[in-house]
Amino acid sequence: MLDIKGLYKNYGEFRALSDISVSAESDEFVCLLGPSGCGKTTLLRIIAGLEEYQQGTITLDGRNLNDIEVRDRGFGIVFQSYSLFPNMTVARNIGYGLKLRGHDKATISAKVDSLLQLLGFPQLAGRYPHELSGGQQQRVAIGRALAVAPSLLLLDEPLSALDAKVRHEMRDEIRQLQRRLRIPTIMVTHDQDEALSMADKVVCMNHGHVEQVGTPQDLYFRPKTKFVAGFIGTSNFFDQAEAGILFGASGDAGTTENLFVARPEELSLRADEGADAVVEDITFLGKVSQAQIRWRDRIILGEIRLGERLRPGDRVALGLLPEAGRWVAP
Ligand code: ATP
Repeated sequence: MLDIKGLYKNYGEFRALSDISVSAESDEFVCLLGPSGCGKTTLLRIIAGLEEYQQGTITLDGRNLNDIEVRDRGFGIVFQSYSLFPNMTVARNIGYGLKLRGHDKATISAKVDSLLQLLGFPQLAGRYPHELSGGQQQRVAIGRALAVAPSLLLLDEPLSALDAKVRHEMRDEIRQLQRRLRIPTIMVTHDQDEALSMADKVVCMNHGHVEQVGTPQDLYFRPKTKFVAGFIGTSNFFDQAEAGILFGASGDAGTTENLFVARPEELSLRADEGADAVVEDITFLGKVSQAQIRWRDRIILGEIRLGERLRPGDRVALGLLPEAGRWVAP
């Protein structure tokens, strides 16, 4: 198990990470999720031993990582750019780490063969990186990281250079592989869909600190802050007065700064000629359409489901579906 406690990192005067505490259980898939510049890569590089830090502790199975040489940590790392050795075949790329560790040829060959089978492309063993597609190259990079039976797998935006279809396929592949091999994995991503679909646990970061840690469902359905509610999925925010008028919702006394959040799919829209909200525009999204509803001087996003007939210009009464909506910190 990896355990990070109270970690701080400065680059000169700039504080890149502040009081970070994160853990990864032995078979957990953890995603570090946040916007560009929030410190995800810095945190991953610190875990990998590629970056110093000023304060905090990192332990792996109870041992302080500072006491373990980087090359003895046995971590598998996959970066955004495939970083394969261009002059080596697929098989030699995958076997590289084993060769470095002094394994004999027969052991390396057997391990490489089994990984090629596991990854599903034994026929590519003799190809060079430039003869592979982007998705294939990234699969080889993952194979190379797995070859050394890593105690921890670190993935830095491994899918971001791939086109949308391959990216979706590889999400499932990586997740299944990780479940099968039960290797604790930490993946950096700025893509919320990727994090929600792949992670057991999401660490949502903002400006160098952790906003919230939880399951994908926790972060989506029970965001604690405005940032998390806004970064993950789409949210409507209402102040106390607005939430009271629209939904009869009232927050705790003493937390008047808190905001009420409702997702577009949590709102009910009912045609009502006497209502003071008006459908301003409708965007077709496939399964549902998104309605932009003008209420007073603001736009509220709602959803129009199959069979519901609303058109721009219709007046609607807004309501909340059962158990929908929650208060978050500003
Ligand atoms: P991205 O998704 O864009 O890669 P990130 O969340 O991974 O972003 P980091 O690369 O960890 O962000 O950077 C965090 C902050 O630290 C940024 O503001 C960045 O400018 C700063 N930073 C990163 N590396 C250095 C460095 N070597 N020297 C100074 N500042 C740095």
